[in-house]
Amino acid sequence: MSLDPASQWTLARSFELEGVGLHSGKAVQLSLHPAPPNTGIRFIRCDLPGHPEIPALAEFVVETTLSTTLGIGEAKVQTVEHLMAALWSLGIANAYVVVDGPEMPVLDGSARIYVDSIHQAGRVIQDAPRSILEFDAKIELDWGEKSIFVQPAPRPEVTYVVDYGHPLAGPQLFEGPLSEAAFETDIAAARTFCLLSEVEAMRKMGLAKGGTTENAVVIADYRYLSPLRYPDEFVRHKVLDLIGDLALTGSWWVGQVVAVKAGHALHVALARKLRERALSRKENVHAPFRVR
Ligand SMILES: [Zn+2]
Repeated sequence: MSLDPASQWTLARSFELEGVGLHSGKAVQLSLHPAPPNTGIRFIRCDLPGHPEIPALAEFVVETTLSTTLGIGEAKVQTVEHLMAALWSLGIANAYVVVDGPEMPVLDGSARIYVDSIHQAGRVIQDAPRSILEFDAKIELDWGEKSIFVQPAPRPEVTYVVDYGHPLAGPQLFEGPLSEAAFETDIAAARTFCLLSEVEAMRKMGLAKGGTTENAVVIADYRYLSPLRYPDEFVRHKVLDLIGDLALTGSWWVGQVVAVKAGHALHVALARKLRERALSRKENVHAPFRVR
């Protein structure tokens, strides 16, 4: 099935996943459900009184340290970006995401399981146009060593540069279009990395309890503790994070994003800026839009 990103899509049926939270190490139950047109992606904390809903939009981001956290008041959901990347890349505009705790399951550390699950559930087109962001000029955020911009291009594309200054995590460049097929083969399976010394420090702080050498590439004594899935897996994971964070614009976007040593804070700052700009340019804030 070829995706038409000009239309809204949702899941054909619900599905469930379970796993552990990366930081809490606690079991997490997750289910995704079809949603009507113009719902957007909405996270629901089914373990809290009143089952609060949090829209997956940049203005609801409350934390960007290590991962992206959405929240309204006490209701928070951490590490939404890998699921958001899979939903956006597979064209799903509307879905309810029901989770029974404050953290998404880490699964295998990538978006691969989400992609497989969405395909198994199937997708249906909805009789409503998708909001689309297009660009007639460069929009840039420059934070010194870290920067990001988006510029006009006929399709979604990403260029990403990282350099962690480590012999096993040096300069890496990813450049390419973000078709659904490219996402699935080049991006979806990429995991992040960390140093074994960082894991030990995080564990002492009560974090990373769900981290394993399977769901992150751990570097110890200048070797990887598990095999890489791509030689340049780390920059590919950054692209995954970027797609997930920009999905918080709530829109399909068409342009080239260029990121240098960026991270969740900068990705989300760009998503906020694009969203504010779009909302200021459209006449009816409740209708889907197509803005330049
Ligand atoms: Zn990530």
